[in-house]
Amino acid sequence: KLYNQIQEAKGNIRVFCRCRPLSKEEVVSGHATIVDFTAAKDGELAMLTGGSTKKLFKFDRVYTPNDDQVDIFVDASPMVISVLDGYNVCIFAYGQTGTGKTFTMEGTNKNRGVNYRTLEQLFKIAEERKEIFTYKISVSVLEVYNEQIRDLLATSPTSKKLEIRQATEGVHHVPGIVEAKVENIKEVWDVLQAGSNGRAVGSNNVNEHSSRSHCMLCIMVGAKNLMNGECTNSKLWLVDLAGSERLAKTEVQGERLKEAQNINRSLSALGDVISALATKSSHVPYRNSKLTHLLQDSLGGDSKTLMFVQISPSEQDLGETLSSLNFATRVR
Ligand code: ADP
Ligand code: MG
Repeated sequence: KLYNQIQEAKGNIRVFCRCRPLSKEEVVSGHATIVDFTAAKDGELAMLTGGSTKKLFKFDRVYTPNDDQVDIFVDASPMVISVLDGYNVCIFAYGQTGTGKTFTMEGTNKNRGVNYRTLEQLFKIAEERKEIFTYKISVSVLEVYNEQIRDLLATSPTSKKLEIRQATEGVHHVPGIVEAKVENIKEVWDVLQAGSNGRAVGSNNVNEHSSRSHCMLCIMVGAKNLMNGECTNSKLWLVDLAGSERLAKTEVQGERLKEAQNINRSLSALGDVISALATKSSHVPYRNSKLTHLLQDSLGGDSKTLMFVQISPSEQDLGETLSSLNFATRVR
């Protein structure tokens, strides 16, 4: 309740910045760290951009390489819980490839990320509230690659193109997509695994492929209030975006160029939508990409948005880091 009031006062968009540790290879090669976390507690970080020049950035939260998956989820959890109160929510990770987007969202087996923890939390709270509410939870896992939607839970490949339709005002969906009912966290893990496996189908390098596509988990919640019979439907999108890095024009041709253009287009579209919302612009251009069109119900209105901007601490990545931080500042 208190959290919702704070949200109200500050608007519905939050930006958390997370910096990964230097990798072993970077340490061995002697890469310097150019991020100063002295004021991280206040949501500030300083980039050392050369000489004694510092560029300051401010976010709702700043996580240092020492902060772990639990620290992050503690701050994200009020937002995910609000889906049980009927809010639409969207959480996404933005940044250059290799900065920890997948680590934050999916995590690893030992170090599970936002996706798993979110579902775990939803089941826990649903159980606590079972005298008052019954909840039905289902999930879809899909991928947007080259402006095409692929259902990662589909057991047999469909030749039919998946499209976004508007059922009623404020309710977009993708007809034909698998919506897997999940009743406990064990089932969730199986579904998330199935989604990961679906991602690997038809690509010879999964890591490369996943850095060029948006991986999207949609959690749909149907709630029934047992006291007054009221029913609500809401959804929570958890998105691991394609890598935001710009490729040198000379480096890419053919299929790779098309991919890069589609990524640029959809990430710019996302930035445009969020900054239109942040500035309360009368026109919000949701239709400019499949990504924003899919997320439409969970971006804007009274829905809640959280963006993780993921960065590298290394001097080698200064250019991309600044561009990610600038993107994130623009939406805030
Ligand atoms: P991205 O999805 O942005 O391309 P990854 O999530 O694959 O990046 O992260 C790249 C590598 O860095 C992985 O090996 C990952 O485990 C590691 N990594 C990322 N963030 C962290 C972190 N906060 N702590 C420890 N390791 C991390
Ligand atoms: Mg990744």
